[in-house]
Amino acid sequence: MGRYTDSVCRQCRREGEKLFLKGDRCYSEKCSVERRAYPPGAHGQGRRAKASEYGLQLREKQKTKRIYGLMEKQFRNYFKKADRQQGITGSNLLILLERRLDNVVYRLGFASSRKEARQLVNHGHFTINGRKANIPSLLVRVGDVIQVRDTIKDSPKFQELKDQAAYKTPPEWLTVDVENLTGSVLAYPVREQIDTAVNEQLIVELYSR
Ligand code: SF4
Repeated sequence: MGRYTDSVCRQCRREGEKLFLKGDRCYSEKCSVERRAYPPGAHGQGRRAKASEYGLQLREKQKTKRIYGLMEKQFRNYFKKADRQQGITGSNLLILLERRLDNVVYRLGFASSRKEARQLVNHGHFTINGRKANIPSLLVRVGDVIQVRDTIKDSPKFQELKDQAAYKTPPEWLTVDVENLTGSVLAYPVREQIDTAVNEQLIVELYSR
């Protein structure tokens, strides 16, 4: 599978806003958007042309893709799936993205960023309903119990994450037991419960061209 290998902070600068891809650093003064609030590259500080309708739609899609750490093909497949479902395609798309295991691990506070969550899942540190789950794209279902594996729970890494998780509040559709590093899916999210700052309608318009 393809992978984005350039600096993740460049992605935020390209979009002109914080996408919170790096965990704690994003909340510090080291954040690149704070320090260099202009697009990356040699012409980054030059005059910016007014974005066309297509440009706005494209940027919104790129932004969403970057927030969830997906490549184009994966993202388009989520869109196709969302389009086949009943209801509002844009909302369906975000709900599918939120249900990814790496996102859920991040939302539960068991990782400081989605990127870290993906790595922890890849390394096989989580179970779903007691069974090892090492596929970041796995879609959680209502009633699923996500847990850090017993073998790794007491490691310094997870003790540190546990301390951080204690200060985070999961979204309403999830519940967390920080002490036992366990979380459950209470329901599928609705659009209002997803705080990802994107205009999904623009993505629908882009793919409908
Ligand atoms: Fe984006 Fe975080 Fe880097 Fe800031 S520190 S530019 S929010 S990834």
